[in-house]
Amino acid sequence: MKSRTGALPSRKQIALIAHDNKKQELSDWVCTHKKELEQHDLFATGTTGYKLAAETGLKVEKYISGPLGGDQQIGARISTGEIDVLIFFWDPFEPMPHDPDVKALLRIAAVWNIPVACNPASADFVITSPLIKQSYKRQIPDYEAYIAERTKKL
Ligand code: PGA
Repeated sequence: MKSRTGALPSRKQIALIAHDNKKQELSDWVCTHKKELEQHDLFATGTTGYKLAAETGLKVEKYISGPLGGDQQIGARISTGEIDVLIFFWDPFEPMPHDPDVKALLRIAAVWNIPVACNPASADFVITSPLIKQSYKRQIPDYEAYIAERTKKL
């Protein structure tokens, strides 16, 4: 896969998701980092988004609830460059009916090389990094080259 340089903006589009047993942990984390998070645009799956908006007072754009397609909506936006950071407190102790969606979301975040945090410690590192406030260049798949190569063979 050829890659190219793609920039994450200084004002980040941050997706926030938590499974039910992790929702309070995420809400507490968002409260702790409210000052920094206010400087960015926040997105969340349905139930997580309602809880975060109600408990933190932050503006959160809500997608559909995770098990009904919200994880996939966020994954789609990662692939089109509309989500820059993924904070996803998934539950390691509960099997989920939408496990394939969870896996797909984590996979697409790896494909597009965005920062991902799956627990509060990693999320602390991400949000306190100087890079959260800066434009950041990273390598991403070169889609133009990829599609040109594939269509040449047809
Ligand atoms: P929810 O979805 O925020 O609607 O609970 C989260 C998830 O389980 O993916």
